[in-house]
Amino acid sequence: MNIILLGAPGAGKGTQAAVICEHLNIPTISTGNIIREALRTGTEMGLKAKSYMDEGKLVPDEVVIGIIEERLQNDDCKNGFILDGFPRTIPQAEALDKMGVVIDKVIDIEVPDEVIVTRLSGRRVCEKCGRPYHIVDLKPRVEGVCDDCTGALIQRKDDHIDTVKARLEIYHAETEPLKDYYGAQGKLTIVEGQDKVEDTTALTIKALEA
Ligand code: AMP
Repeated sequence: MNIILLGAPGAGKGTQAAVICEHLNIPTISTGNIIREALRTGTEMGLKAKSYMDEGKLVPDEVVIGIIEERLQNDDCKNGFILDGFPRTIPQAEALDKMGVVIDKVIDIEVPDEVIVTRLSGRRVCEKCGRPYHIVDLKPRVEGVCDDCTGALIQRKDDHIDTVKARLEIYHAETEPLKDYYGAQGKLTIVEGQDKVEDTTALTIKALEA
C-alpha cells in the first residue's frame, strides 16, 4: 500500500508513520529526515537546504522532488511505502502523479494550531534515527536517549517558537490545499490528532483498514 501522511508540522506524522511501518512492514520516507541527514553529512544538497530549513521555509520543489524520485526506486519500496512530509505543495503532488506513482490512501492528521505550538516547543528528536519524543507526553525510557537506537535526543532549531509559527503559516498556505487535491480523488481520511497518541493510532489503523 502506498500511503501519504498529511498534517501540520508537529501533528504527529512521524509517530503514526512508525506505527504504520510496523503494522504493514513498509518503509517510511521522510523528506525532512533525508534532508537533515544530508545536512549532517555535509552534502551539496544538504548545504543548499540548510537556510530554508533553519527559517522554517520549504525547500524548493525541484530539490525534494529529486530526493523522492531517487528514494522510491529503492527495492524496499516495492511492496509500498509511507510518505511523511511529502508532498507539501500541489506541484509536488503533481510530480508524484507524473512519476506514475499511485497513491492508495492519504491520512490527514488534524491538530489545532495552538496545540501544535505547545507540542513542538516540547518536542525532542533522536539525532541519529529521527524518532520523535516529547518532554511531557512521549518520554523515552531513559531521559535524553532514543529507545530504538540509543542516539541522543535534541531539540530541532526549527522547533523554536517563531519558526514554528512561520511553518504553520506556510502549512496553511501551501500544504493544506492538498486535502482538496486528494479529497477530490476519494483518497483522503481525516484523523483527529489532538488527543492521546493511542487514540490517534487507533484512528490511523482504522483508516488503513477501511
Ligand atoms: P519535517 O521534518 O518534515 O518537518 O521537515 C523539516 C523541513 O525540511 C521543512 O520545514 C522544510 O524546510 C524541509 N522539507 C521537508 N520536506 C519538504 C517538502 N516536501 N517540501 C519542501 N520542504 C521540505
